[in-house]
Amino acid sequence: MRIFENLESEVRGYIRSFPTIFSTSKGAKLTDENGREFVDFFAGAGTLNYGHNNEHISSALIEYLQKDGIVHGLDMATTAKKEFIETFENLILKPRNLDYKLQFTGPTGANVVETALKLARLVKGRSNVVAFTNGYHGLSQGALAVTGNNEYRDESYISRANATFMPFDGYFGDWNTLEYFRKFLEDGSSGVDIPAAVILETIQGEGGINVASKEWLQELESLCREYDILLIVDDIQVGNGRTGNFFSFEFAGINPDMVTLSKSIGGGLPMSLLLFKPDLDQWKPGEHTGTFRGNNLAFVASKVSLENYWQNDDLSNAVFYKEKILKDRLEKIMKKYEGEYKIELRGRGLAYGLEFKDDASIAGEISSYAFEEGLIVETCGNQDQVVKFLPPLVIDEETLTDGLNKLEKAIDRLFK
Ligand code: PMP
Repeated sequence: MRIFENLESEVRGYIRSFPTIFSTSKGAKLTDENGREFVDFFAGAGTLNYGHNNEHISSALIEYLQKDGIVHGLDMATTAKKEFIETFENLILKPRNLDYKLQFTGPTGANVVETALKLARLVKGRSNVVAFTNGYHGLSQGALAVTGNNEYRDESYISRANATFMPFDGYFGDWNTLEYFRKFLEDGSSGVDIPAAVILETIQGEGGINVASKEWLQELESLCREYDILLIVDDIQVGNGRTGNFFSFEFAGINPDMVTLSKSIGGGLPMSLLLFKPDLDQWKPGEHTGTFRGNNLAFVASKVSLENYWQNDDLSNAVFYKEKILKDRLEKIMKKYEGEYKIELRGRGLAYGLEFKDDASIAGEISSYAFEEGLIVETCGNQDQVVKFLPPLVIDEETLTDGLNKLEKAIDRLFK
């Protein structure tokens, strides 16, 4: 067990950021092998929106296994799959007047991104795809080609041949970056081919909690319609209720052609799902298959999470309520140190980031100090200069406040 004995092991893992061995978890808390408890403001980068070992999900899984439900069915029709589809359509799509086909694409986020890009290129017969600065869409070859940060790739093995990058909202301060995008589409000398699709996160999770405005998203949608470009929203990290609505784009009233979902869509189990407008179903039989597309345990977990949290607005309201607690407290902490440090707070729902503008290393130090206090927080941004807050959506108020107290203590210790 070399990885656990040698924290500097060449095997990469979170043990370097959070140097302990976790063994049990419940709600918004993790416990390590020594019995030390940690408040979790990371939630598997948005995979545990319903919390660790959610009681509704665990009991549904145990019950399903006890009655010998199908665990693996390749992509065959199963009861678990049928029930998940019905629930998703009734509780998520219909109330929002959304008409999408569902395609199960494998266990990971990268799997669904690859599928979306492949389908967009197939339908439009064009290879170029536009992505945005600081965007993150996964690290397999196609997804990596549209992931902004060069740190994840080497030019020798991933080319950007079929991808063009445009500045995300806010990249040039207040200037509307879509003017640049529009000009490049209009101007034949720009060297930009009309893309098959545009892919974006409405809040860039790995890229630094950069938040696209409602107006910017609406204008981007119009631009896509004008140039016959498919609009793909990658809702893997900030979908599934993270912003208070089930989809992160709902607040802008836009209607993407495709939506990629993963992380919390499986209720904590591996699953990814592509939603696409019915007329885009131009796959030939067998053109896009894969062994682990239909994880029946994830269908069970997902169905029960939707039934318990999306029948009414309770979870949404709870997210907005807890957003206020999180935001107010982060603003208070920020105010304390604003004189000495250039700090910016951004976010929506329960996805917030605190950026340290003049010294990128501060965010990582806060994460380490917070760990010592018993709080798990990750960093993000192209220089890891942003402390990221993604607590489970079901976190109770007491644990949220406890985590924020630990954070403030960690920052006070660091800056003293
Ligand atoms: N898209 C987004 C927005 C993500 O946040 C991630 C994962 N952080 C991915 C795609 C890739 O998901 P996975 O790591 O499961 O391949």
